[in-house]
Amino acid sequence: MCGIVGYIGNKDCVSFLIDGLKRVEYRGYDSAGIVVCDEKLDKLQIKKSLGKILDLEKVVDSSVKGNIGLAHTRWATHGEPSVDNSHPHVSNNKKIYLVHNGIIENYITLKKQLEAKGYKFYSETDTEILVNLIESFYTDSIEVAVNKALLEVQGTYGIGVYHTDEKDKIIAARLGSPLLVGIGKDENYFASDPSSIVKKTDDVVYLDDKEMAII
Ligand code: GLU
Repeated sequence: MCGIVGYIGNKDCVSFLIDGLKRVEYRGYDSAGIVVCDEKLDKLQIKKSLGKILDLEKVVDSSVKGNIGLAHTRWATHGEPSVDNSHPHVSNNKKIYLVHNGIIENYITLKKQLEAKGYKFYSETDTEILVNLIESFYTDSIEVAVNKALLEVQGTYGIGVYHTDEKDKIIAARLGSPLLVGIGKDENYFASDPSSIVKKTDDVVYLDDKEMAII
């Protein structure tokens, strides 16, 4: 279980996300990635790399900007360290983005159920099962879909979720994997480790197991 950092507000968040990941580098990881959405331009960019945060920075050029973002460092549990297996993962309809720390223990059962509904998988991870499970429950509310999906999951998770049709929120939830929400002025954050957000705010809420935050 490695690092998660998230941001929603009205400033460009790329340097905050990268800096937040650097602060949890000491925990170890094999790959890293970010997704950022520029709400005004309605533009979403996803960047991933194998290796160090420095390698991620090489693919995150100055054109990568956004005021909503999720970032992740991965320590592979399901699937080798690779760009395809690194997070964020995206649902089949390309609308839901997920970063995940932890292990979905019943992912094989869930995968079979989703394959029977026509879902395709492009990585070897348990995480990609979860993002598509969320899509399968989605009607018009990402928090409702996340809640329904998590009720089906056995295992551990700290997650950050973003739906491109609901640009005013990101979702965080946890079970057995740490996650805290930071409250700022006109912007909010979440992270798996307080060191990732301590520079921004000391007004924080630690999520308990089975709690979800709509940020
Ligand atoms: N189980 C997930 C994977 O293998 C998440 C690993 C992690 O916590 O970094 O991709």
